[in-house]
Amino acid sequence: MDRVPDRIYFKDLEGRFLRNNRAHLARFGLTDPAQALGKTDFDFFPKEHAGRAYEDELRVINGGQPLSFEESICWPDGRVEWASIIKMPLHDSDGRICGTFGISHDITTRKQVEQELKLMTNRLLLATRAASIGIWDYDPVNNSLVWDEQMFQIFGVDPKRFSGNFESWQIAVHPDDVARETQKVRQTLEGGAEYDSDFRIVWPDGSIRYIKANAIVQRDESGRPVHMIGTNWDITQPKRMEEELARSNADLAQFASIASHDLQEPLRAVAGCVELLAKGYRDRLDENAAELMQHALEGTRRMQNLIHDLLAYSRVDSGGRPLVPTDANATLDEALANLTIMLSERDVLVTRGALPTVVADPRQLSQLFQNLIANGVKFCAERRPEIHVSAEFKNGCWEFAVHDNGIGIEPQYLERIFVIFQRLHTRREYPGTGIGLAICKRIVERHRGRIWVESEPDKGSTFFSLSLNPPITRHELAVPHQTD
Ligand code: ADP
Repeated sequence: MDRVPDRIYFKDLEGRFLRNNRAHLARFGLTDPAQALGKTDFDFFPKEHAGRAYEDELRVINGGQPLSFEESICWPDGRVEWASIIKMPLHDSDGRICGTFGISHDITTRKQVEQELKLMTNRLLLATRAASIGIWDYDPVNNSLVWDEQMFQIFGVDPKRFSGNFESWQIAVHPDDVARETQKVRQTLEGGAEYDSDFRIVWPDGSIRYIKANAIVQRDESGRPVHMIGTNWDITQPKRMEEELARSNADLAQFASIASHDLQEPLRAVAGCVELLAKGYRDRLDENAAELMQHALEGTRRMQNLIHDLLAYSRVDSGGRPLVPTDANATLDEALANLTIMLSERDVLVTRGALPTVVADPRQLSQLFQNLIANGVKFCAERRPEIHVSAEFKNGCWEFAVHDNGIGIEPQYLERIFVIFQRLHTRREYPGTGIGLAICKRIVERHRGRIWVESEPDKGSTFFSLSLNPPITRHELAVPHQTD
């Protein structure tokens, strides 16, 4: 008995100790059994605890039945632990109850694990509820499928009508997707790729919804799948928006081709005729007619610019090239080469930090730099324009920044300027079509990124663009150099 780590004791009908094992004595800070003999819990524990223990023992004595429970104990030696306790009646040789004996087993570690598990489960529950994520658990051995409450809501299924097997899930999946998804689940169970998929479901009312699904497989020691645990959430709204966007992009692409053929051609003809008229009849026109001619010329040029920019805007998606590892230094060089005249006319100082290689469409990245730098120079008032291009690696993404020392932007306009045709100045103050930043936004979004500006009037602006495409490793970072 003394070798057992559990605490064991025997007491008489008055709760006096008859015998304690070594482990029990140790909790009282004792080594000699004689020191506990004849004493009661009241000699070691606070009154409240000892009183409760004695009441338990009286119940065992009077009822003749064992008692088992778990409780947190603060032992006289100062140790606090969770214990699983069993108290039983003690019988004399005539079979009469003459006291109690008890065993106290330390379950602190188990309790801690239980509490942590409970905390984690609650956290998970909160998170999944907040995100409207459904959780399912499939046992392939017994073909048993368990859904949580959210799963029933996502699938619009009444829990009472759910048979709880693989087939009940298959019934809910869209007929055109079910074979493919079943195959994917099978492959995952057989040890193939992780299950990460999206598919359509059909609600009992016939409506179709889109589901995003992820799952992991748990296996036994022999590698046999015993559980497949997964999540589902409804992505109908973003999917519909995606479809809507694809439709409007297609409309836009169609508009682009109409604009290029049907608008550009006659405009070119008008521009040509007006130019010929202006040249041929220069001497024969009076002042008024010459001015009108000038307006007509400017108008056609503006219209040409507008069509050119609109075409560029509408072709960001349809005319984009594949995203490939792209040296941002080279694309910046190209942008600067395209702006040579503007840069030298305004004596612009361009500097750059270390720029990385990123996964991008090289032409579009160059266009992005070109638009932002051209704006930085254009919206610079009288001072000498200074542009600084840099990149910073943050949270797994490259964040590019194009900084200028220009006129800056009032805080209320910081978002509006990315909307097509939105300009903060008249054409007389600063020429432009109001499409440049909308192009930048589409380019960045095609790269699954984000664009924004930080600025203060008169203090310059910094345009940031974040690339969410997989970054190229740091050692591939190109060597920085300065350009004046
Ligand atoms: P555009 O340059 O043709 O007017 P953009 O779409 O490029 O069109 O820019 C929209 C508006 O945003 C500009 O008209 C200007 O008011 C403001 N803007 C853009 N870039 C800057 C900048 N670097 N500094 C100050 N204002 C800017």
